[in-house]
Amino acid sequence: MIDATLLPGDGIGPEITDAVVDILDHLGAPFKWDTQLAGLAAIDRDGDPLPQETLDSIKRTGLALKGPLTTPIGGGFKSINVRLRQEFELFANVRPAKTLVPGGRFEGVDLVIMRENLEGLYAVEERFEARGDDPKAVAYSSGYNTRVECRRIAEFAFDYAVRHNRKRVTIVHKANILKALSGLFLEESQAVAKEYEGRVEVDDRIVDACAMQLAMNPEQFDILVTTNLFGDILSDLAAGITGGLGLAPGANIGEDAAIFEAVHGSAPDIAGQGKANPCALLMASALMLDHVDQTDLATKLREAIQATLLSGKENLTGDLGGTGMTRDISAAIKDNLSA
Ligand code: NAD
Repeated sequence: MIDATLLPGDGIGPEITDAVVDILDHLGAPFKWDTQLAGLAAIDRDGDPLPQETLDSIKRTGLALKGPLTTPIGGGFKSINVRLRQEFELFANVRPAKTLVPGGRFEGVDLVIMRENLEGLYAVEERFEARGDDPKAVAYSSGYNTRVECRRIAEFAFDYAVRHNRKRVTIVHKANILKALSGLFLEESQAVAKEYEGRVEVDDRIVDACAMQLAMNPEQFDILVTTNLFGDILSDLAAGITGGLGLAPGANIGEDAAIFEAVHGSAPDIAGQGKANPCALLMASALMLDHVDQTDLATKLREAIQATLLSGKENLTGDLGGTGMTRDISAAIKDNLSA
């Protein structure tokens, strides 16, 4: 058995983690869960959204499956997702986007977005400046990128390309405007690309052009490597063109720990109603199985999810165009695992 931390999370988190753990048990996944609190439930219990017990558990297991966590907007505590990435130096955010159901807008999309996870416009110092009687007349925000982290995420992306038989890495930047912040990322990524010459092809795109090409012809992309905020935005775009947020998984990878999660948030609008789609967190658990070298189980799980998506709308949740509840889609996936 492999020790792993389970963070059910906020909103729909507990409903979808229950469903996922049940399906993983059915699959025979070898995880021994240590369930811990983070987010709003942890504030209710301890007054702290990220208790020491939770941090200690992840430190011990080095492996976690995390439900979505609510982040207050425009004030309140700092995002727990961001704190976890920084605490465990989870420098790479890996977000695959693949066409699972034929007949949608695009066939054959199979790309992976590698997002730098620690710096950029997520590591900001912010302040307001008063003018006249308006204390918030001007808003300032300044982020940073370091050469070391730009190199680390670029090396991770090129190394991933080699290990997964991928052909090309596209470096996504805005170095024409953010000449320092994004320019350094482009410069260092191109230096890394040279070390992989002959093994992995490379090109680069300005982020706005890349967004348009992703929306029009996403099949052209293989691996995209980019900075924190651009990666956040483009990976939601990529999720949208391959079936929506309800299917998109993400992995946060560091040297000593890895945390797997759905790309979507805590969906407070449908929390507690039994309507949430567990597939994105389930696809994240497939990435987690890959990570611990259980690729056969990961493949079996992905095939059961895909078979369920292809078997008609009846059991699918509302976000996938169906009328089913969380329990219906979960039961169908378990049936397909047994088939
Ligand atoms: P969201 O992803 O929670 O919801 C967007 C829309 O998608 C909603 O209509 C929601 O009902 C729907 N949706 C999302 N996941 C679904 C699922 N599994 N099944 C069915 N429908 C689903 O985005 P939001 O409303 O902008 O954010 C809500 C909260 O989640 C915020 O506090 C935000 O900060 C947080 N958030 C957390 C994470 C994370 O933990 N990694 C990621 C994104 C947002």
